[in-house]
Amino acid sequence: MNALANPLDWIDAQLPAMREFLVRLADQNSGSFNVAGVNAVGRDMADRFASLGATTEFIDLAPFASTGDDGLLHARPVGRAVRLRKRPEAPLRVFLCGHLDTVYPADSAFQSVISPADDVLRGPGVADLKGGLLAMWAALAALEQSPHRDRIGWEVLLNPDEEIGSASSAALLAEAAARHHLGLVYEPALPDGHLVGARKGSGNFDVVVHGRAAHAGRDFAAGRNALAACARLVDGVNALNGQREGVTINPGYLHGGGALNIVPDLAVFKFNVRATGPDDGCWLHEQLDLLLTRANAVDGISVELRGGFTRPAKPFDERNRRLAALIGDCGRTLGLSLEFKPTGGCCDGNNLHAAGLPNIDNLGVVGGDIHSEREWMRVSSLTERAKLSALLLLRLASGELAWS
Ligand SMILES: [Zn+2]
Repeated sequence: MNALANPLDWIDAQLPAMREFLVRLADQNSGSFNVAGVNAVGRDMADRFASLGATTEFIDLAPFASTGDDGLLHARPVGRAVRLRKRPEAPLRVFLCGHLDTVYPADSAFQSVISPADDVLRGPGVADLKGGLLAMWAALAALEQSPHRDRIGWEVLLNPDEEIGSASSAALLAEAAARHHLGLVYEPALPDGHLVGARKGSGNFDVVVHGRAAHAGRDFAAGRNALAACARLVDGVNALNGQREGVTINPGYLHGGGALNIVPDLAVFKFNVRATGPDDGCWLHEQLDLLLTRANAVDGISVELRGGFTRPAKPFDERNRRLAALIGDCGRTLGLSLEFKPTGGCCDGNNLHAAGLPNIDNLGVVGGDIHSEREWMRVSSLTERAKLSALLLLRLASGELAWS
């Protein structure tokens, strides 16, 4: 068989090697703050792409800043981004991205891949998102076998910090959005194989409450209890749930106090917000202002608020519907009937959309229970989803499908 005659058959033949490579990638821990691990996955993927002849860059990024239990901002280093570019002057320019990091830290108990059943792998990052990295690679390798490949230029960005909000790679994503016509992102497909249309937006907020320490017995009246003030704020923020359609607020972290004979002078509280509409952010900030003003009015208590929306909502707008229609059509050719469903989850697809790039963002493998120690993926979806992206690219390159 001539491999060049049918790049989709070529993809099918890659399945055993892709499975083996995926096990290797997922056995390598790459929690967002495991810099060496993230960089190892980046190097492995760059090696994998080497035969495609793209220019390869390893890009150092600014550290990630977060509020520590001491209430101060701490900078934590992140891994390098990997950027590959091929034919950047081509008439149609496609941006593909996926992240190198996972939610499982270096000391997580979930470290290696097993195969609990035929066609299933369970392991850290097999679905989110390492399987998708391989689907992306195979789709581009198939495109490079096409006689029409010169019509398409592509750029791949493998970022190291998606699971912590992509703050360090945000500028790379925005730059890429500006110079491409459409985007393909390799987050996992939904467990039933369907794809995502609209995504909610997301914001992370940190609240630092300062009070005044005092001896709980000798000098109780001189103390100002930061923990109690913080508890009132947690309750106030949580009570915003149900007040506005499409907005949810999840108090997710609380730290404060220590020895029980000290009135605590510091408490830290963090929460995540999911929102649908463009005005939801304004509403939320008004509500937070009211809560903070009330908290700050208490004698001896002062409250700082940090953070904001990092991922704007991604509506399923007209351009994304058009791209979804092209992908749906490619799916039908491959025997897949794909629906596009809304989700409360969010990813770099939100940010690319906000930067003006139409994109479909869960073109990776089929899997589920992501962000848990039960994370799994369907092995055959490695080639199934690679062919979906490949067919889109091949048809765009040949002119069988048009994007303008
Ligand atoms: Zn992901």
